[in-house]
Amino acid sequence: MDNPMVKELVIVGGGTAGWMTAAALVTVLRGQVSIRVVESDEIGIVGVGEATIPMIQRFNRVLGIDENEFLRQTQGTFKLGIEFVNWGKTGDRYMHGFGKIGQDLWTVNFDQYWQKMRRSGKADELAAYSITRMAAKSNKFMPARQDVENSPVNDIAHAYHFDASLYARYLRGIAESRGVRRTEGKVTRCITSQEDGSVTHLVMENGEQIGAELFIDCSGFRGLLIEQCLQTGYEDWSHWLPCDRALAVPCAPAPALLPYTRATAHRAGWQWRIPLQHRIGNGHVYCSQYVSDDEAAATLLANLDGEALAEPRMLRFQTGMRKLAWNKNVIAIGLSGGFLEPLESTSIHLIQSAIARLITFFPRRQMNQTDVDEYNRQSRFEYERIRDFVILHYKVNQRTDADFWKMCSDMRVPETLEQKIALYRNNGRLLRIDNELFAEEAWLQVMEGQNLQPATYHPLADLLPDSETEQYLQSVKQVIANCVAAMPDHAAYIQQHCAAARS
Ligand code: FAD
Repeated sequence: MDNPMVKELVIVGGGTAGWMTAAALVTVLRGQVSIRVVESDEIGIVGVGEATIPMIQRFNRVLGIDENEFLRQTQGTFKLGIEFVNWGKTGDRYMHGFGKIGQDLWTVNFDQYWQKMRRSGKADELAAYSITRMAAKSNKFMPARQDVENSPVNDIAHAYHFDASLYARYLRGIAESRGVRRTEGKVTRCITSQEDGSVTHLVMENGEQIGAELFIDCSGFRGLLIEQCLQTGYEDWSHWLPCDRALAVPCAPAPALLPYTRATAHRAGWQWRIPLQHRIGNGHVYCSQYVSDDEAAATLLANLDGEALAEPRMLRFQTGMRKLAWNKNVIAIGLSGGFLEPLESTSIHLIQSAIARLITFFPRRQMNQTDVDEYNRQSRFEYERIRDFVILHYKVNQRTDADFWKMCSDMRVPETLEQKIALYRNNGRLLRIDNELFAEEAWLQVMEGQNLQPATYHPLADLLPDSETEQYLQSVKQVIANCVAAMPDHAAYIQQHCAAARS
C-alpha cells in the first residue's frame, strides 16, 4: 500500500499524560506500532492531578487493570463525588455526587417531581435521593453490584484518588512490560521538514536525534512541540477562569478516610483536599490579582487536617486551550493541550478522551486533513463544554465578602452557559448539549447547591397526583437509606481489599 499506517510514534513526556498514552496505545495497537517515551528526570512531572471522575474505570478496563491492585500500588482511595464548601454563600455546603439522582418515573425526569414537591415542603434535600451522596456523607463505600437488579446499588458510580507520582510509575510498568521503550534525557529542540513544516526529529541534549512519523506532545505546560516548535497558539480563557496559581502541599492523613474530594472556597480561590491512604493532597488555587502568594500560603496551611509534610510548592498556569490539539504530525495531550482548573477533576479525563479520539482517527503516514479537522473540532467541543461547567461554579455565587467573588458573579459568561442558566432559572430545565461530559444530574447539583432557584417546574409533573408523587419520593429515599446502611465503611473496605503495603 502506498500510504501505510503510522508505524513509529514518539511520546515526549513521562507524566500522567505520557504514560497513560503509552500504556493505552501499546495495548490497543497490540505492539504493532513502535512507541517510545522520552522523558527528563531532571525536569520531572507536575506531580499534582490526583482526583478523577468515574470514566477512568473504562480506561482501566481497556488496560486490563485490576482495581484493587491499582489502588494498592498508587496508595489510592475511592471517590464518590466532590463536596463544595463556601461556594454559593460562605457557610454553604453541598456535594456533586457521581451517578444518578432518584429514579425516573414517568413522562418527566425525577428532578422535576422533586422541584415540584420541595415547593410544598414534601421533598427532602436533593442529597437524600442520591446513593453516592448519602454514602459519602457517612463515609461508606462499595462498588456497584451488577448482580442486583432494580436497586440503587446497581448504579454506584465511583472514581479514584491516587498519588500522581505512583500512578505514572504504575502505568510506566504496564507500558514497558508491553513493549514501550523509554529514553531518559532532555529534548533541546526539534527539526522540521522543509517541505511541510512537520516535525521529523527531536534533538536531545547529548546530540542524539530521535525520528518518528507521529509525535505526541505530553511535555506539560511548556508544550515543547505543539507550541515551542510549531507555534500553534493558545486561546486564553482567564477572563472567565481567572485563577492563575496554585500552591500544593501534602499533609498527614486524618483519622476518617473520606470517600470524596473537598473543594473549599476561600477569599480569592479555593482549596482542594484529596484523601489518599498515606497522606492528604492539598492545594490552594487562587487568583494572584486578588491575593498575595504569602496570604495564599498562609490560608492553605491554616486549613490542613494534618501536619504539613513539605513546604508548599507553587504552580503557575493560564486557563485556556491550544488553538489546535492536532497540528501537522504533532498531537498535544495533557497539559500541553490546555488547562481548565481542577475544580471538577477533569484533566485526567481529557487525557483519556484524547487517547480514545486518537485511536478513532489513527492516521496513515500521509495524514488526512479532514480527520485532523474533525479531531480538533471534537477536542474543542469537549473543552468548551467542561469550561462552561467550571465557570458555573464561579458565576453563580452570592458571596458579598470579597471583591473576587463579586467580580465572578458580575462577569459575562459564554452564551452557551448563559442559555443553560436561563433554561434552569425559568423552568428548572436542564440541557445536556450533544454528548457533553457532564450529565443533567451534575448541572442540577451545582445549580441547586449554589442556590439558583427555578421560577417553576415542568408542567407535566402536575399530571401525577401529589399524594402519589410524595409516596414515590419517599420510597426512593427509603431504598437508598437502606442500601447505604448496609454498605461497609470506606476505610474498612480499603483495609480489606486494597490497602497499600506500609513503608
Ligand atoms: P507533566 O506532569 O508536567 O509531565 C510533563 C513531562 O514532560 C515530564 O515527564 C517532563 O519530564 C517531560 N518534559 C518536559 N520537557 C521536556 C524536555 N525538554 N525533554 C524531555 N522531557 C520533557 N487533573 C485531574 O484530573 N485531577 C486533579 O485533581 C488535578 N489537579 C490539578 C491541580 C493543579 C494545580 C494542576 C496544575 C493540575 C491538576 N490536574 C488535575 C491536571 C493534571 O495534573 C495533569 O493533567 C496531569 O498530571 C498530566 O500532566 P502532563 O503529563 O501533561 O504534564
